[in-house]
Amino acid sequence: MIKPWPLGIFRSLFGIVYILVPLLALTVSAELFFSESAQSILTNFYINMVAVLGLYMFIGTSGVPSFGHVAFMGIAAHLQALLTLDPTIKSMLLPNLPTWLANVEMGFWPALAVTITFVGIFAFLTGIPFSRMGDAATGIVTICFLAIIHNVLLGWERFTAGFKTIYGVPEYTGLWTAFALSLAAIAIARLYKDSSLGLVIRASREDKSAAQSIGVNVPNHRLLAWVLSAMVMGAAGGLLVHYLTIVTPAQFYLGLTFSLIAMLIVGGVSTISGAVIGTVFMTGVIEVLRKIGEGPVIGPFDLPQMHGLSTMGTGIAIMIIMIWKRDGIIAFFEIDERLRNRKDRRLNTVEVRDPERADGFIHERTNQKNTGVDRPADEGLNLDIRNISKNFGGLKALADVSLTLERGEILGLIGPNGSGKTTLINIISGAFPSSDGRIELGGDNITNLPAHTISRLGIGRTFQNIQLFANLTVLENVLAAAVANDSSSMLPGPDAWTRSLLERFDLVPFANRLAGTLPYGQQRSLEIARSVATRCSFLLLDEPAAGMIRQESDRLIDVFKNIRNEFNMGLLVVDHDLQMIMKLCDRVVVLNKGQVISAGSPQQVQQDPKVVEAYIGRKRQ
Ligand code: ADP
Ligand code: MG
Repeated sequence: MIKPWPLGIFRSLFGIVYILVPLLALTVSAELFFSESAQSILTNFYINMVAVLGLYMFIGTSGVPSFGHVAFMGIAAHLQALLTLDPTIKSMLLPNLPTWLANVEMGFWPALAVTITFVGIFAFLTGIPFSRMGDAATGIVTICFLAIIHNVLLGWERFTAGFKTIYGVPEYTGLWTAFALSLAAIAIARLYKDSSLGLVIRASREDKSAAQSIGVNVPNHRLLAWVLSAMVMGAAGGLLVHYLTIVTPAQFYLGLTFSLIAMLIVGGVSTISGAVIGTVFMTGVIEVLRKIGEGPVIGPFDLPQMHGLSTMGTGIAIMIIMIWKRDGIIAFFEIDERLRNRKDRRLNTVEVRDPERADGFIHERTNQKNTGVDRPADEGLNLDIRNISKNFGGLKALADVSLTLERGEILGLIGPNGSGKTTLINIISGAFPSSDGRIELGGDNITNLPAHTISRLGIGRTFQNIQLFANLTVLENVLAAAVANDSSSMLPGPDAWTRSLLERFDLVPFANRLAGTLPYGQQRSLEIARSVATRCSFLLLDEPAAGMIRQESDRLIDVFKNIRNEFNMGLLVVDHDLQMIMKLCDRVVVLNKGQVISAGSPQQVQQDPKVVEAYIGRKRQ
């Protein structure tokens, strides 16, 4: 069972309350002391906030740009108007409505429920192609999506009155309604973000192929985010129409898209605190500039009217913030998380580690089990590579490569640069398809399955150029892998499992740091910890010791041997560090120009003249 909130639900609730309290205070004081027009601005601010949080739930979590979300607001606003308008007004404005729609007159909440459901279903259907596109393509296609919906709304006069404005919509959206819904949006966004679902989609935002390598089905998670975010946008559209009491398609186009995206970007795309603060900031900027643009008299100055001042100001504000803070005002940690991190740092300024506990988990477990090796039932399951070839255009990167990796075995894969080692790992792990040949896992054909499926079948990997989830914490990196693959009941749950891995790889002191800020050696360790966290039975390691000093790579040898013993895992280790390969591996396979030229024990391979010629001889040159 996947734990719904792997980092603990209280953390999220605290974060929600943390934002709620100041907003509640603001709303109460607005109720008591603000003028009606100031209250109205605040209401509008809350509506914007719901929309910005809706945007966050797709753009912020998946990292895929969308310029189309305002379309969902437009659809929702029109539907909401149709459902709530007085039938006599409707018969005047929209004389050709079908009778059931012409006669319906719902209250705010029931209509909103219908609207949000409708938008959710519509988003699901449209989201299927969107979630399967490349990232850049999605950005462009969402603009087309917005344009299409806009024109459909304009053209479908029977339902929308086209270029004419529908007026007389009941004014249901007061300050407290808008406040309540924005609070709901904050809670939904935060609970989604901190959930297992949110964690793995944020991982895919940081690195799509690494996310797939830990078993994340990226398109499905994008689809989910798309639907959830569209529903929140739908709520914002519903609120807006009952605030303005009029609706026309022109409201839901590039202008609104621009200002909502500006709010999200300025605040920080990847946090909820950022979405809220960006909305506060930009609403403030826009309101002030609008006042100035109206050409008011301030003391002795009679300012001229300036059209478009607030739009221009929005653009300038974005530029200033982006230059000053590239990732927005609140970048990667929520405000409550920042406070917690600061407290953690104050409490243990110097991290003292007990050297005897460096491998604590291993000792604990070996003592418990008394054997040191727990052999899962699927003993004897092999990974068979059979006659794999790969052509890149005219280049034959792999030609007829065959090898077998057994569980509990450490197999070295060496060869000069460009001999096809990484390509082989990419093909086994499903990163790209082979041109020919077959791969079997325990006799089952797994050739060219999608990367996330291969990961879930128990094949983990690391990357030659470290591919971490750089803007997630160290803990989240490992946890994402644990929850994405949490199907086995024999092993400890994600918490204990993740903690044990952090301990084993000496990463506990860095648990709450962003992975991208770690020193190089620890980034390597973290990547290995993350792949082990998937509970794989085979692990493909692409130059795990690259860039490590001897002490670090010696320690890595122990770690690999321990992992192998404890989980009966089969390891395929690609490395240039021959000393390490010789110390670590049971068997070694040598590739040269895409072909296996030698295989055997480390000693045999070392003495093979072909290897000396291809590999060592070449090095001497
Ligand atoms: P190794 O990891 O042994 O150094 P690689 O597997 O990275 O070697 O590369 C093997 C050959 O395949 C090289 O000639 C490389 O240029 C080529 N190659 C690797 N990946 C690609 C790719 N995605 N597109 C085209 N050529 C590639
Ligand atoms: Mg390589």
